[in-house]
Amino acid sequence: MASGSPSLMWFRKGLRIHDNPALEFACKGSNRLYPVFVIDPHYMEPDPNAFSTGSSRAGLNRIKFLLESLVDLDLNLKKLGSRLLVLKGEPGRVLIHCLKEWNIRKLCFEYDTEPYYQALDTTVKDYAVSAGVEVFSPVSHTLFNPADIIQKNGGKPPLSYQSFVKLAGEPLPPLSNKVSSLPPVGHLGSCEISEVPTVKELGYENVEQGQFSPFKGGESEALKRLTECMEKKEWVANFEKPKGNPSAFLTPETTVLSPYLKFGCLSSRYFYNQIQEVYKTMPKHTSPPVSLVGQLLWRDFFYTVAFGTPNFDRMKGNRICKQIPWQDDEKLLEAWREGRTGFPWIDAIMTQLHKWGWMHHLARHSVACFLTRGDLFIHWEKGRDVFERLLIDSDWAINNGNWLWLSCSSFFYQYNRIYSPISFGKKYDPKGDFIRHFLPVLKDMPKEYIYEPWTAPLSVQTKANCIIGKDYPMPVVSHDSAIKECRRKMGEAYALNKELNGLVSEEDLKNLR
Ligand code: FAD
Repeated sequence: MASGSPSLMWFRKGLRIHDNPALEFACKGSNRLYPVFVIDPHYMEPDPNAFSTGSSRAGLNRIKFLLESLVDLDLNLKKLGSRLLVLKGEPGRVLIHCLKEWNIRKLCFEYDTEPYYQALDTTVKDYAVSAGVEVFSPVSHTLFNPADIIQKNGGKPPLSYQSFVKLAGEPLPPLSNKVSSLPPVGHLGSCEISEVPTVKELGYENVEQGQFSPFKGGESEALKRLTECMEKKEWVANFEKPKGNPSAFLTPETTVLSPYLKFGCLSSRYFYNQIQEVYKTMPKHTSPPVSLVGQLLWRDFFYTVAFGTPNFDRMKGNRICKQIPWQDDEKLLEAWREGRTGFPWIDAIMTQLHKWGWMHHLARHSVACFLTRGDLFIHWEKGRDVFERLLIDSDWAINNGNWLWLSCSSFFYQYNRIYSPISFGKKYDPKGDFIRHFLPVLKDMPKEYIYEPWTAPLSVQTKANCIIGKDYPMPVVSHDSAIKECRRKMGEAYALNKELNGLVSEEDLKNLR
């Protein structure tokens, strides 16, 4: 047997072989390597009330995406002479058992800034250190180390994108060496190892074929998708958000790499590096914040602010969040969540969320604005929860950051600028193809009425086989009155916040007048 000691590579996110510093280090000087993934009931346990739609924390689309990513990781590990060891249970407990059982001398895992992992990792690290196990936990999920940026900024996270970019500089390059072989897996002892389970084996019942997202998980799929994107050099060089059509669903107008970044099937540093390679051949290209590189910087910006802001995921106790007296209305919330608001643009996007777990950025803007400061005046935390569960790219820092933004609770304060649930979508898709696809009940509604079907004469509704109020709901609010009311309430809340902390920008003052 080769000299060295056994090491354990704990996969959580970072589900990839390429640019994986923890994996690379785990191999160094090790005669056996245990690549482990723990199925965590906290995220994966079926919700007894919703067997066919997922757990209470994760929709089935995301669970399936994760399982596909694990199958792919297992295949890629096998090509290198190893395999993935899947265990089930509370990860801290399971990990500590494995460390003991396999006499592990080196534990490697990617650093994670999410509060859930921060707590979990402290428990595992404390045990490992006390048992004399070497721990290596590098930052490789983001371009930069959020802690470094916060330190450079005097201990506080930068609160604007521009100041973040100034502090950030250039990220570390991805690892240049490719892993070409891995040490073999050692004896498994009493640890209960399984293959990657199917959704059915996890306990999800009545799952219909064809109900899933079109996006398949895994590193192989991520790299294929990235290569296809990078081959379109002009497109990469001219990428400019927020231009782009949110209703383009057959061929989305952005990369749809977010779920792969979320699970770390794709390294953000490798992605960044590949864009730079394209830029070398296309010297005239867009720049941050609107460019493709600019999007990756947005990701790191939110990670940094989230990491350095206590209670980032709530309004109370969050120093960067405006305190707004959002209303509680379960019925309105349910109508929004289930895509039954009576506004086809909003309902089609929410249906896309349920069916695909992914929507274009501006589509997310539309429904988030509608739920909060635009029409329903419901708390952003409620919308955040729905996205958190159903998105396949659901990401703690980015999701909370964008909800804070869209609800004008932080970062962005022009609450008078509201997305119309009628004219915004129409601008991109006047015939309403996106609506017809996701809301087939409206498929025969003439284009003149597709965004406001309640205005169609009864004869038109009858001909379209869709009677409003019976086959498709009446609007839950009048948009014209709702925006007036929302603006008034936002104005009052902003004034009160100003009184409370004297922190109000010139822009806010303009809006209040
Ligand atoms: P592209 O435009 O191709 O961008 C490339 C990558 O840049 C993305 O994959 C993503 O990692 C990053 N990125 C792009 N836009 C943003 C942004 N505004 N903030 C941070 N990073 C960004 N994105 C998530 O990954 N997870 C979430 O949970 C999430 N929740 C959101 C909630 C709301 C209310 C809103 C308005 C946006 C949210 N976003 C979230 C941000 C954004 O909509 C998605 O990242 C993007 O639409 C993903 O598609 P893409 O990969 O094609 O993006």
